[in-house]
Amino acid sequence: MNNKNQKRIALISVHGDPAIEIGKEEAGGQNVYVRQVGEALGKLGWQVDMFTRKASAEQAKIVEHSENCRTIRLTAGPEEFVPRDNIFGYASEFVEAFLQYQQQTGYRYPLVHTNYWISSWVGMELKKAQSIKQVHTYHSLGAIKYKSVATVPLIASKRLEVEKRVLETAERIVATSPQEKEHMRSHVSPKGNIDIIPCGTDIHRFGAIDSKIARQQLGISPESKVVFYVGRFDERKGIETLVRAVAQLQLRGKEDIKLIIGGGSRPGQSDGIERDRIEGIVKELGMSDFTSFPGRLGDVDLPVYYAAADVCVVPSHYEPFGLVAIEAMASGTPVVASDVGGLQFTVVPEETGLLAPPKDDAAFAVAIDRILSDTAFRNRLGKAARQRVEDMFSWEGVAKQLGELYTKLMTETSTVVPTKKKAVSA
Ligand code: UDP
Repeated sequence: MNNKNQKRIALISVHGDPAIEIGKEEAGGQNVYVRQVGEALGKLGWQVDMFTRKASAEQAKIVEHSENCRTIRLTAGPEEFVPRDNIFGYASEFVEAFLQYQQQTGYRYPLVHTNYWISSWVGMELKKAQSIKQVHTYHSLGAIKYKSVATVPLIASKRLEVEKRVLETAERIVATSPQEKEHMRSHVSPKGNIDIIPCGTDIHRFGAIDSKIARQQLGISPESKVVFYVGRFDERKGIETLVRAVAQLQLRGKEDIKLIIGGGSRPGQSDGIERDRIEGIVKELGMSDFTSFPGRLGDVDLPVYYAAADVCVVPSHYEPFGLVAIEAMASGTPVVASDVGGLQFTVVPEETGLLAPPKDDAAFAVAIDRILSDTAFRNRLGKAARQRVEDMFSWEGVAKQLGELYTKLMTETSTVVPTKKKAVSA
């Protein structure tokens, strides 16, 4: 390793472009994670190159985020949107493009941190071609996800095989919660090295606005009881459970309830179809007059909505981590979440929020009612929530832990010898 490459690392996120607009169907927590981790590592002195697939001809090849951190878009497959489940077909082109990029620039990445199973395959192929250490974050585990979906995609068996192989061969797997680690052990493999390093959030951006000012900005009365959801329109997110829960609130009719469902969608695409379905249920239950759909919430608006909310609801059927929960908590807003996955780690029941069984709208209604009907309880939960995020989930803290892990792995002598010069096709 020469000096030029001393602290240079590659974050690979084939389908989750860290430079893209967040809040659409294919852009969510993974994009945020890669971007924030990259930028925070950059501030710690790492040279961070984040590689993703170029998904339109108009996109810039390189986006500089800061002095030490940039996104590099490689051409692999058509320069157009490709649904996540179809991207694996272009993974071998991505490997070729990455190797070519190294050759052209003279950069040599001693370590790659891969994100999601498609990128994990890319990382494992790179290891065959050169001496490189691999750290991997799953973001979602096929073995768990496929249990909660009605139709299993064709790619499932490949994904499960790749997810097992990377667990057993990567220098380190990063689980974002103890629950995710347990899922890997019980559903994927007993072999492999796993560290727990959580996801983070921007504790300076979230929590900086007073709720009164936030409500003024949004034109919401101080007396209203505001229930808030934000995230992708995807059935797995359980928005239907939230809507049905709000329909059953004891407080309905007694208080001025407002339900806000934020998140972007594209008409005719899967997220647009889900939004139409949810709007249909809202109408059917006679809730249209107090429910709003503000669309995608950008960097400036999002903290205002969290601050204006009395409670943020995360009703996912499955959630490996769930950034929305810690963003709300950082904003001093208690969370009612499904009792699943990473939400069991971030939300401490009765301390920073409440948990309810997934898909159980009656239980969600009880939990939301409890928070909305007791302001002192609500404020106590909100304060403890903020404290928990400050203590455990800042990006600075997360990046520091990742940086220490990279340094440790890069200084360990490699026991893995590259098996061949060129990568194989997918
Ligand atoms: N998000 C956003 N604007 C929106 C909808 C979502 O900024 O309109 C962000 C949200 O704040 C969070 C991320 O998208 O940072 C969603 O991450 P999460 O882990 O909650 O869910 P995922 O999308 O990974 O399933």
